[in-house]
Amino acid sequence: MNIVIFGPPGAGKGTQSKFVGNEFDLYQLSTGELLRKEIDNKSKLGLKISSIINSGELVSDLIVSELIEKFISNKIYKNRLIFDGYPRSLSQAENLDNLLKKHGQKIDLALKLSVSLDTVKKRISERLAQENRADDSEEIAVKRYKTYEKSTEPVINYYKKSNLLKVVNGEAKISDINNEIRVLIDAIKG
Ligand code: AMP
Repeated sequence: MNIVIFGPPGAGKGTQSKFVGNEFDLYQLSTGELLRKEIDNKSKLGLKISSIINSGELVSDLIVSELIEKFISNKIYKNRLIFDGYPRSLSQAENLDNLLKKHGQKIDLALKLSVSLDTVKKRISERLAQENRADDSEEIAVKRYKTYEKSTEPVINYYKKSNLLKVVNGEAKISDINNEIRVLIDAIKG
């Protein structure tokens, strides 16, 4: 089983992906984390990525696609990936389908965590206090939310059309969200 999880910044993608990963023995593939690792390496590419992330924009499709293909093509992760932060645009959604097909796989479920802009702002300021992430100022949070609305929202329809979309209320208690997601995945597993 391969799952896509998406939602605006601060929706709880990371938290819920970790939960799903542990509960169903899937590998959490976070493109944000992979990109931050690249920045930590202080490579030329890392520097370029850093300025893009800190502006609240999306990193180029090619860079992110190369990062995820390494996992999709690896037998260890075959049919046990949870994509956290990918796809973030229609072109990425199409690319993901193509990459998976090339390696004999597909997406089985697309989970959308929905939260309001007010909640996003509140959560980001909490996270700012805890983690000190360079891309977490309120101003950048709003920019990232707008990037999400513009580029990522169209992806919802893409998965709706393929009957893979399930929307979960990301404002509920974490344990309630966990339960709702568990039920949805169990239903698919049959
Ligand atoms: P995240 O940790 O998922 O919130 O991602 C942090 C930042 O990394 C985003 O704001 C983007 O700048 C970049 N990023 C993560 N995933 C992608 C992606 N699939 N495509 C382009 N940029 C991405």
